[in-house]
This record gives sequence, C-alpha cells and structure tokens, in this order.
Amino acid sequence: MEEDHSKKFSPSKLDCYKECPKRYQYRYVDRISRARKTGATVLGTSVHSALEFLYERLRAGARPSLEDVLAEGDAAFARDWDETVSHLGDVPKEDWGRLVGECVRRYYEAHSPFKEDSTVAVEARVGFPIEVAGYEYRIEGFVDRLAVAGDGLFEIHDYKTAKSLPPQSKLDEDWQLALYEIAVRTQWPSARSVTLKWHYVRHGQTLTSTRTPEQLARLKGEVAELIQAIKRDREFRPQRGFLCDWCEYRDLCPEFAHVEKIAAMKPAERGRDDGAKLVGELAALDEKKRRLNDELELVKSAKAELDARIAAWAEAEGVTVVAGETAEASVSFKDELRLPTKTHEAERHEALEKDARASAVWSEVARLDAHALIEGVKARRWSGEALAAAEALLARYGKRERTSSVRLRRRRGADEE
Ligand code: SF4
Repeated sequence: MEEDHSKKFSPSKLDCYKECPKRYQYRYVDRISRARKTGATVLGTSVHSALEFLYERLRAGARPSLEDVLAEGDAAFARDWDETVSHLGDVPKEDWGRLVGECVRRYYEAHSPFKEDSTVAVEARVGFPIEVAGYEYRIEGFVDRLAVAGDGLFEIHDYKTAKSLPPQSKLDEDWQLALYEIAVRTQWPSARSVTLKWHYVRHGQTLTSTRTPEQLARLKGEVAELIQAIKRDREFRPQRGFLCDWCEYRDLCPEFAHVEKIAAMKPAERGRDDGAKLVGELAALDEKKRRLNDELELVKSAKAELDARIAAWAEAEGVTVVAGETAEASVSFKDELRLPTKTHEAERHEALEKDARASAVWSEVARLDAHALIEGVKARRWSGEALAAAEALLARYGKRERTSSVRLRRRRGADEE
C-alpha cells in the first residue's frame, strides 16, 4: 500500500494528481526522478532564464540591452539542450533556438523601457498554510515575477511559451496563479488588489484575470478536498489521457509497461513473450468467435427459412408433427392480433398512437403498449366506453396474422441408431 507523506504541495503537484494519480505516485510518493526534456520544455526554460536575467538586472538598477537578454536566452538554450531531449517531432533544434530569440525580442520590445511596474521579486517562492482534516500543510510555488504597479496593487506575472493562446474563460478558471494570489495576500495582507498576468510570449500577448474573495475561498476549499483525497489514496490508479503520450513513467505504468516492452522488442522476439503469446491465443479465439457468430447467424436464418417450410408443409398435409429419421418437428399454429409498430409500419403506428391518445382509453394505455391493448381487450379489463374504444382501435388497426413456431425434439435413442 502506497501512502503520500507530503507536507507541501505546489499547484503543479496538485495538477499532476488530478491528471493521473499513478504518475503522481511515481513522482511524489516513490520519488522516481526523471527529467522529461522536449524542445518545448527547453524553449520554456530558456525564455524564463532570459527574462529572469532581465528583471534581476533591472532590480539592481541596470537596464540590459536587447542583445544582452538575447545572449542570455541563447546561452540558456545551449546549456539546456542536451542528449536527453526527446520527442523532437518535426521541429529541428535550430528552429527551437530561433524561437527563443523571437520570444525574448517580442517581449523586450513590447515592455521596454520597463516602467509599467516595479519588480518585487523574480522567481519568488510564495506560499500559505492550509489545514486539512486537523493537519497543517503548505501550498508553495514559484512566481515568475512579482511586481507592484502602485500602492498595494500587486501583479503576478507568468511567462508562457505555449503554441496556442487559451480563451479568457480558461484563464478565469486557472488555479495556479489564483493560489499564488492567496499566498501573496497572506504574505502582504495590505494588498489592495492582485492582478494575474500571463505573458504569451510566442504571440506577444498579455492576458489578465482577477479573482473575488469568494472565488479564492472556494478554491481553498477545493484544494483542501484534493489534498484530503491524496492523503486517503492507497491505490493511485492510472488515469489514461492525452498526457500518456508524453508521460515519462510509461515503462512502469501498468497501462503501458507491457506495451512499451513489446514495442522495444524485435518482431521475431515478440512471439516468445508469455504475455504476447496469451494475447495471441485470445486474439485467435476472438477471431474464431467472430467467425462462429457469423456462421451462427447464417444457420439461424437458414433455420427460420426451414421452419417456415416445415410449417407450410405440415399445414398443407394437415399434420402437427412432421417425422424425420432421427427427430420429429412439432408444428403449432395460432392466430394473433398484430398492431403496427414503430419499426414496422411507422406511419400507421403514429396514427394508431394519435387516435389512442384522443380516445377515452388513453390513460390506461399511455405510451402505447400494444401488448397491453390487445391483452386488455382479451381479458375484458375495461368496461363501457373504455372497452368500446379499445375494441374500436383493435378493429381499426389490428391485423390478423397466422404465425408458427417449430420446436425440434430428438427421438430417444436416436444417437445410437
Ligand atoms: S502513462 Fe498515462 S496512465 Fe500511466 S502513469 Fe503516465 S499518465 Fe498515468
């Protein structure tokens, strides 16, 4: 039984649990550390490094040139891009490197001379305590940049290098920066307002959002519930989703471990794997089942045809049992009243239902139950006007049809014959 012993939670850690408890377990409970570098993550870290350098220098009273900041981005890219970078996709390394420069340049030119606000801290650790079921935990995280734009007017800045720009509704629900807002308000109770700002540097767009005290209180409650769920969890079940494609624990995850193992084998080796052999057998059985089902359907339809021929023959001969060499076929006939149904004779069925609705008997047969209607008349379940109406419906819509059923009966001892 696994158990989480964390005392601190960051928004990304909580997100990890929400997305997949199993991945959370590997990362935060079992503490299996695996770096997951891709072109996109190196772009993110490089741009963050360049902007961190920029604002640190500004805080120190210097104003680095665009070239200085671009050089910092390039240096970070060269440092971060190593042989562990995977999932390259179609975008070559050079293009990612170029993108770092474009993002930094776009941001620098949009915000220079950087007088919109005053930076309080860069890569600032913020946090607040939260009580859950009698225990105290901490929510902690790093704000890309914390700034003030006036007396008590705090701003939380976050740099995003994502390819797509999210709709405003998504940002209004984002909980990472909202949790940082709770932390900022806890650390600076005099804050008059806190604005959440996302800089989508690939698009040169800054998007903002604010939260009401009620929203923050609700969020705190949701986070407490989530922490409680994590603390109670003993199974950490895998939750398959689109993130599985990028998950760094696929080779451990019960959903993918064997898939990965087989994928890594040479085709000739795969057939020797016990699991692969069993699945091969199952697949063969399933195929056989499918073929037999097809065959069964053919047999059923041949039997229905033969039943009809036997019934017709028995009727013509005036017998109810037709004898064969090893079996007998018992044939019975009955006259049944049939009403139009939705699937067969839809129009007449509709007309029948309409008339029935208008009739005095409708309350008895609401949502037309043809069987109930027929059986009701047969059993004289109603009287007076209702019965007359039901009889009128049957007279109008009913059609007498002769049906037959055939039952095969083996003669005793026929097997030995
Ligand atoms: S591969 Fe998917 S299901 Fe398995 S741990 Fe990773 S995210 Fe969860």
